[in-house]
Amino acid sequence: MNASLYLHIPFCEHKCIYCDFYSIAPGDSAARDYAALIREFLVSLEAEIRLRSADRMLQCRFETIFFGGGTPSLLSPSDLQRVLDLLRSCFTIDPDAEVTVETNPGTVDPEKLAAFRAAGINRLSIGIQSFHEDDLRFLTRIHSSDQAKACVRAARDAGFQNISLDLMFSLPGQTKERWMQNLEEAIALEPQHISCYSLIVEPDTPLQRMVETKQIATLPPEMDAELYETTIQMLASSGFQQYEVSNFARPGFHSRHNLNYWRRGNYLGFGPSAHSHWTDVRWWNVSNLHSYTQRIAHGQAPVAGEERLSREQVVEEEMFLGLRSTGIDVAGFRRRHDIDLFERYGDIIEDLLRSGLAVLEHQVLRLTSTGYSLCDEIALRLR
Ligand code: SF4
Repeated sequence: MNASLYLHIPFCEHKCIYCDFYSIAPGDSAARDYAALIREFLVSLEAEIRLRSADRMLQCRFETIFFGGGTPSLLSPSDLQRVLDLLRSCFTIDPDAEVTVETNPGTVDPEKLAAFRAAGINRLSIGIQSFHEDDLRFLTRIHSSDQAKACVRAARDAGFQNISLDLMFSLPGQTKERWMQNLEEAIALEPQHISCYSLIVEPDTPLQRMVETKQIATLPPEMDAELYETTIQMLASSGFQQYEVSNFARPGFHSRHNLNYWRRGNYLGFGPSAHSHWTDVRWWNVSNLHSYTQRIAHGQAPVAGEERLSREQVVEEEMFLGLRSTGIDVAGFRRRHDIDLFERYGDIIEDLLRSGLAVLEHQVLRLTSTGYSLCDEIALRLR
């Protein structure tokens, strides 16, 4: 049994207007002495890792490690190295493990990237979002377009051969031409992987308030669909394979960590707000740094909630995640759940195949590019 490890690093130099991930910026009232807060967090994180590793039920071979957040690239290479060393001493880590750090171009320089590589990090997921300066200002990102490009080049010079870029489309007022320029810039940097996300207006964010007060208008759904289709076409014609609704990779460079999530594999999450999944039991940590460190200080697991998935939930989740990503293995599905997809959904599947929204290859039912754009609707039909 293989599995993944996730570490949530809840610090950002500045909170972006659209973001609802749990993180603390230096200006937040809770963050009086930011450096001390980070040190305190790291002590708690290491204690949580030790606490969890004592559970013999959670031992197996871990194939991927992902530092997400927040902004893990804010941490020093030696801090990341210490966490990695601890993980290796507490768990069985595959020597060939994929080790990813989400990287904000505004937090690294060539020396730091070289030190990340020397620490055993072998994949960077670089949050670029746009190559247009006005977009970056609107999104309140801390980096410039030049910094983003320099970051990718420096990462390659530092020896990273597995680089992913994050881009964001459907920004207010965005035209097809401007989005295509972003894709062209990204492709020209020759990354191995590109993730493209449509801007979502999350509740309780400054972005939501801007939309509510009509300071900005979101793009109409038809435009969002057009930009998404443009993305699929441009990346396909540049040799990227789409393997999930928002993810595209050169052959052999699919994110192993994310594939494990989408295949409902086991994973352990550490840090505030981190989620875990182990053989159909899910639990999640408190989304508050103070509560997190306090609980750990009292020798308690920082868990806020836990649920055992019912058989129906497992079936539904497996279908939904399979459709969003690499498809559903029909024979495997029957073996695991005693459900024949064709008996249960024959008419709908026939319709999907006939209309070119899905294909059946080697007994795997998967969506086509057109199907991906209608993924949520298709998943609803198959409930
Ligand atoms: S840097 Fe990333 S995690 Fe931090 S606020 Fe911005 S989008 Fe959110």
